[in-house]
Amino acid sequence: MQKTRRQVRNFIGGEWVEGNGRETEPVYDPATGETIAETPLSTKEDVDRAVKAAGAAFADWSKTPVVQRIQVLFRYKMLLEEHFEELRDLVTLENGKDAKDAGGEVRRGIEVVEFACGMPSLLMGESVRDVARGIDNVSHRFPLGVVAAITPFNFPCMIPLWTMPVAIGAGNTYILKPSERTPLTSQRLVELLIEAGLPEGVVNIVNGAHDAVNGILEHPGIEAVSFVGSQPVAEHVYRHGAAHGKRVQALAGAKNSMIVMPDAVLEKAVPNIVSSAYGNAGERCLAGSVLVAVGEAGDRVVEAVKEAAEKMKVGPGYEEGSELTPLIRDSHRDRVKDYVDLGESEGATVALDGREPPLEDGFFFGPTILDNITENMRVAREEIFGPVLSVVRVESLKEAVDFTNGSSFGNACSIYTENGAAVRYWRENVEAGMLGVNVGVAAPMAFFPFNGIKNSFYGDLHATGKDGVRFFTENKVEIARFLSEPETAEAVKMPTEA
Ligand code: NAD
Repeated sequence: MQKTRRQVRNFIGGEWVEGNGRETEPVYDPATGETIAETPLSTKEDVDRAVKAAGAAFADWSKTPVVQRIQVLFRYKMLLEEHFEELRDLVTLENGKDAKDAGGEVRRGIEVVEFACGMPSLLMGESVRDVARGIDNVSHRFPLGVVAAITPFNFPCMIPLWTMPVAIGAGNTYILKPSERTPLTSQRLVELLIEAGLPEGVVNIVNGAHDAVNGILEHPGIEAVSFVGSQPVAEHVYRHGAAHGKRVQALAGAKNSMIVMPDAVLEKAVPNIVSSAYGNAGERCLAGSVLVAVGEAGDRVVEAVKEAAEKMKVGPGYEEGSELTPLIRDSHRDRVKDYVDLGESEGATVALDGREPPLEDGFFFGPTILDNITENMRVAREEIFGPVLSVVRVESLKEAVDFTNGSSFGNACSIYTENGAAVRYWRENVEAGMLGVNVGVAAPMAFFPFNGIKNSFYGDLHATGKDGVRFFTENKVEIARFLSEPETAEAVKMPTEA
């Protein structure tokens, strides 16, 4: 992967342009700490320019028949396949994750494009004919107008693709505000979309951080905002966006339990648990960050996880065989270290200690296990977002579920067992929106919603699946009669003609 400095620019009305802001934020190769680009921090004026361009493009794009709009998406899908390795390597370069994880997220992103290619079916309304004599009741789906997405650093390819194809396939025009820490993949995604034949102004990029975000939330020309990121920012985006009259979905942070029952098939479960906890350096919203070991599963599973974690090869994502890749920033590494210190001072046992940086360069943090945590410790409840697995030991499945439900988050939960009754009890009682049975990263496919609950999600309609289509459209419900027809009811009485 070529590491020469890359330019990051805004994309407005079909042109790559400089923003108004004077400040920039460095983009690092997290494996070396080297600066590979500078993200311009755009201002509210830049957001306004993008809204004007997107607003101007809406008139024609929203009237372009959906069967034509999806031709662009079909071509886009082919271009994404052709550039698969390039996109994967770009994700690795700016985010740090390994090729397997980076390739996985590119694949997951492409699957949303494939889903959006079915937009004619997804946009179908409903109808009931003859609700009274000669009177039909139908509903139609319309695009909203200019919509925006604000995305995090940890999935620079997949998360922009959660919304971009769906929003534009449904006829909206779109502004992307990528993470200032990983702007390069977004830029390439949009270049390919233009190559696929998207008209100018339909998709725009405004780079930046909080000023750009607040500019989006406050702009009267934007109808809906999709946000993915940390919990405090998600809450701010939801409240501030709603206060400015916008439809908002805000996907937030997580603290996901992996419950291990005594009958779990450990030789297969442990690699899965290790990959959930330490894959992508723990920087996944679906990472299993708490191991809840039930009964006599306790010592066996903790020992096996420790043994496997100790053996992980720490190294850059672009080096073959690397299993534990770097964190995104030095400051984030400090934050993760502070959490391990805190856990120790709260009384947790540091069963595996990754605080000494395992490699000299880059932002690496070693695999860590905080054993014997209790429910009131901050390390049991707060999102650490690093390669740190907290372990709690309980005596029963009920205790495991009660512990899990003590979290303010509700993104995901996994259970490792072969016992159907245990699975049923857990599913009925656990407070999490994405469930994994012997699956440590319970990621739904593109045609299902990405379904966090509690403080992991603010809003009503989730991203992806049919929820995503509903989020980016609104219904008009029509009742119609034609008076020239002799059969038509003479008067329309509500609720219905007797
Ligand atoms: P973040 O909240 O720091 O940033 C997300 C976006 O918000 C970025 O575009 C950033 O520029 C913007 N932002 C940051 N601070 C802001 C502020 N004060 N005001 C306005 N905008 C601001 O999140 P991150 O560190 O990039 O991503 C990691 C977080 O995202 C984790 O908490 C993770 O769990 C969460 N996440 C959640 C999901 C999900 O589906 N629930 C998916 C991926 C990541």
